[in-house]
Amino acid sequence: MRQYIIAGNWKMNKTVSESVILAKQIVDAVKDIKNTEVVIAPTFLAAAKVADVVKGTNVKLAVQDVHWKDQGAFTGKVSIDMVKEIGAEYVIIGHSEQRQYFHETEESVNLKVKKTLSAGLKPIICIGETLEQRNGGILESVLTTQIEGAYKDLSADEALKTVIAYEPVWAIGTGVVATDEQAQDTQAFVRSVMKNIYGESVSEAVRIQYGGSMKPDNAKGLLAQKDIDGGLIGGAALKSDSFFAIIAAAEAQ
Ligand code: PEP
Repeated sequence: MRQYIIAGNWKMNKTVSESVILAKQIVDAVKDIKNTEVVIAPTFLAAAKVADVVKGTNVKLAVQDVHWKDQGAFTGKVSIDMVKEIGAEYVIIGHSEQRQYFHETEESVNLKVKKTLSAGLKPIICIGETLEQRNGGILESVLTTQIEGAYKDLSADEALKTVIAYEPVWAIGTGVVATDEQAQDTQAFVRSVMKNIYGESVSEAVRIQYGGSMKPDNAKGLLAQKDIDGGLIGGAALKSDSFFAIIAAAEAQ
């Protein structure tokens, strides 16, 4: 049985004080959640304060990126030791906004994944196609390239520590959600690529989240799909009631 994982990606939203308030609301809302892993990813600036809020609770901390070098002259970047020291457990890597706006490549995703794993943290690896790619019939080759790139030189043991977030780019922040069938079919394909690389037991164990306009009203249908093991949530994670409603939908599956 794969445990559901619902992660809130706050992106560039919320000041530090707003982040602390939202984190406290979420901690309070999910205190009786037993079976679903709950993760929140504030900005780097707010992460240390949010870490204090979630410490000892059933909410885990993620950050939205990391650099693959240990330290040094990399203005604007944050290292894995900095992230680890504050108690983060997850790192979101390869988000489509990083790929689209900040020159994220298959190589940089792979380096970040390796660095994250080497520090004992767990990567949430984002993959997904644009509408043009889907309509152009290259969905499968795009996803295969992204998966093979992210997992290059990773052992099966390392792969087991990762989470994949399948996020169709056309559904992120647009309010257009993939249908349950579209999401299931694509996520089954993602799992089949993992099977080709690592074999059945790893591919059956790795969790694959869906991301892209997941909201309280569509979460139940998406989460009921066989190959959907949770959600990476943007907009709906910015309010505790909508984030909690999605978590409750996972918990009720
Ligand atoms: C995301 O950015 O990972 C995301 C899924 O955003 P939204 O839920 O707002 O579409």
